[in-house]
Amino acid sequence: MPPIRIVLCRPSHPGNIGAAARAMKTMGLTDLRLVAPERYPAPEAQWMATHAVDVLERARVHATLNEAIADCAAAFALSARGREWSPQVLDVRSAAARALEIDDAVAFVFGNESAGLTNEELFACQALVHIPADPQSSSLNLAQAVQVVAYEVRMHVDVAMPFARVEKRATVEDLEGLYAHLEQAAVASGFMTPQSRLRERWRRLFSRVPALEREEVNILRGLLKALMTGKNARNERPE
Ligand code: SAH
Repeated sequence: MPPIRIVLCRPSHPGNIGAAARAMKTMGLTDLRLVAPERYPAPEAQWMATHAVDVLERARVHATLNEAIADCAAAFALSARGREWSPQVLDVRSAAARALEIDDAVAFVFGNESAGLTNEELFACQALVHIPADPQSSSLNLAQAVQVVAYEVRMHVDVAMPFARVEKRATVEDLEGLYAHLEQAAVASGFMTPQSRLRERWRRLFSRVPALEREEVNILRGLLKALMTGKNARNERPE
């Protein structure tokens, strides 16, 4: 995973610190920094971290935001509210993409639960990041905001699904075999006339199937074969 840092500025509820550590760990992030936490260490943080206590235990505490992001190539401030004056505004998805392009340590900076980030903290960062939400109720819980950021980072790094079986993909040759077989069956059955545009239609249909597997092509061809044999068998039957 890329060196993405999560910085919590003046968090007041230790439970949120633990829940943020857990949110990070599930998405493969481990670098957590706490700027002047109101109460930390605290048992509530441990409880909420569950299996992510290692992230919590490695979290470093800093006196100021500048100290927490001094060695980062960029810092992105998270805010639920737009501000009249702010650095460049990005939505969270574009921000995650931007952070990964930088290919060096990048911090995502979160504000206090009730007051958010101060203007000074905001301007210590190069961008203001917004998580799209209902305008009437746009303020997410701190740890949930961390979860969304960590998830978006993850989606840019790794979209592989666990447990998905990786099958052999159909090649162009496999597909051409299927098209020829379809044509043969369509003509033999009288379904397709010579001037028909069916050829284009099924090419168009299969072009919309991403990652067709060889086995799937074989199933379709097996079905065509069985249908054709069945028809012939009936035709061959004496009247
Ligand atoms: N009441 C505060 C919000 C506190 S929520 C305010 O109005 O600013 C705690 C932190 O979670 C915020 O400082 C911000 O860093 C993050 N956060 C919550 N909702 C967010 C959203 N919709 N977009 C971006 N960050 C958000």
